[in-house]
Amino acid sequence: MSTPLPPLPSDADLRRLVQFSSSDGRIWLAGQRMLLLHAAALGSLRRELMEDIGHEKTRRLLMRTGYSAGESDAALARKVRGDASMFSMFSVGPQLHMLEGAVQVTPLAFQEDMSKNLFKGLFRWDHSWEVETHVRDFGPQSQPVCWMLLGYATGYTSAFFGRRILFKETQCQACGHSHCLIEGRFREDWPDGEDMEADYKPDSTLIELQNLQKQVEVMRDKQPPVDDMGPLLGRSKSFVSAVDLLRKAAGTQVTVLLTGETGVGKERFARALHALSDRASHPFVAINCAALPPDLIESELFGAEKGAYTGSSAARPGRFERADGGTLMLDELGELPLPVQSKLLRVLQDGVVERLGGTVPRRVNVRVVAATNVDLAAAVEKGQFRQDLLYRLNVYPIRVPPLRERAEDIETLAQHMLQKFSERHNKSLAGFSDRALEALRNHAWPGNVRELENLIERGVILTGPGEWVDVERLFPALPGSGAEALATVSKSGRLAAGGSGQGQALLNDLMDRKLSINALERLLIQEAVDRSNGNISAAARLLGLTRPQLSYRLNKMSDDNA
Ligand SMILES: [Zn+2]
Repeated sequence: MSTPLPPLPSDADLRRLVQFSSSDGRIWLAGQRMLLLHAAALGSLRRELMEDIGHEKTRRLLMRTGYSAGESDAALARKVRGDASMFSMFSVGPQLHMLEGAVQVTPLAFQEDMSKNLFKGLFRWDHSWEVETHVRDFGPQSQPVCWMLLGYATGYTSAFFGRRILFKETQCQACGHSHCLIEGRFREDWPDGEDMEADYKPDSTLIELQNLQKQVEVMRDKQPPVDDMGPLLGRSKSFVSAVDLLRKAAGTQVTVLLTGETGVGKERFARALHALSDRASHPFVAINCAALPPDLIESELFGAEKGAYTGSSAARPGRFERADGGTLMLDELGELPLPVQSKLLRVLQDGVVERLGGTVPRRVNVRVVAATNVDLAAAVEKGQFRQDLLYRLNVYPIRVPPLRERAEDIETLAQHMLQKFSERHNKSLAGFSDRALEALRNHAWPGNVRELENLIERGVILTGPGEWVDVERLFPALPGSGAEALATVSKSGRLAAGGSGQGQALLNDLMDRKLSINALERLLIQEAVDRSNGNISAAARLLGLTRPQLSYRLNKMSDDNA
């Protein structure tokens, strides 16, 4: 049973408490110093916190901040409306919250009787500043985001009644609801009251460390090695859906066909599939069908008995047998010779291998992951690939997208690789320069993730300790020879890969200055003579001239000047 609530009282008494003392740079709310702060500025603080200390710590930190604001306002309530009804007096909090610009509050239910241990509060929130800023920065959410507001409600109400009353945001506009809704109860009336209350305790370093340790243990148990997961970093749509397909396949025994250009990371996908599957404790074996001569590949795959071919002095198991219980990756499958294709098909159908020169069938339990960068359907048309084998392998195709389709992932990948190679080469670098990042984002990446990886490892090696990795460290093949390598990023952000040479920026600069060849020659000679302190032989060496050649030019210069 609930009686309808009276409307909120006029807030004129509260508005009178706000005083702008602009001459001395202060704003007062009944003796408390206030700030008129840009919501966007607080929003950017929030965003940086999220990025620096993470979602959970930011949430609790902001809840505690709101809590202390609510606590301060509670002190005003009895002072300002000491002889009003309980509802009017309590309404100071919601009304100040509105006045302070945080949110619009509509009380939906308010019942209290401290002597009977009764409290129930239900409030509707509209126009929460936290919803606005959070959704703008991070998009729609699955969990409520009005952390400071919630802390305020909890802090205000707890201080007002002198009892621990906790609010929960039961629906939030950030999650797609039409408005936010909060409910307040005594801590002991919430089934999870103890956890809720813990949010208001300062994060102790000790607890943090314990949690971290727990997380590490969980990760060690569940996650494949970091290096296998690293390249699966990425948020772009095409990549996420490929990873999603991979995860779904991991729990099954299905044969997976990975397609995609050279360097997109097909082997990493295969390793991740293995690591995520229940075969993870068994071997992962990879074979590159293009890297072995055709006459060797059969014995490599299926093994050979002693004397099976010239020079085979001992029996040896093939990759299928070595991968027993685990995963076998057949990379560049399109290169597999036709006779081996038919044997592979039989193995896939029967789960049995026969070594070369042997007669004993051996049962193997292997999940096959095939990978190719050629169009196998086209290879079937040309008679280079067996159609029945393609059918057999093409049950579960996953296309790994090229890097140029994942432009938004480039920076994340680059940062990850920078860290990895800095550790590998034991270097501490300042990071990427803005120009370098710009160039990375705009490169076409024909060699995909592998190209990016090579380029960043080279950049890490070339950059001095503590320095920024700059464009010319990443793309040293660009214009520039001799002393200073020069590269430019055009207005569109593309690298000026000006073909032939001597530093496009320098050339642009000279052309812009409209220097004649004679003037340029004079400047060069002058500079060389100056740098050599007038020693003509030394100056000639700097210019790649003989001493007589330089003397001749110097004489000519003084004749011209005369
Ligand atoms: Zn909300």
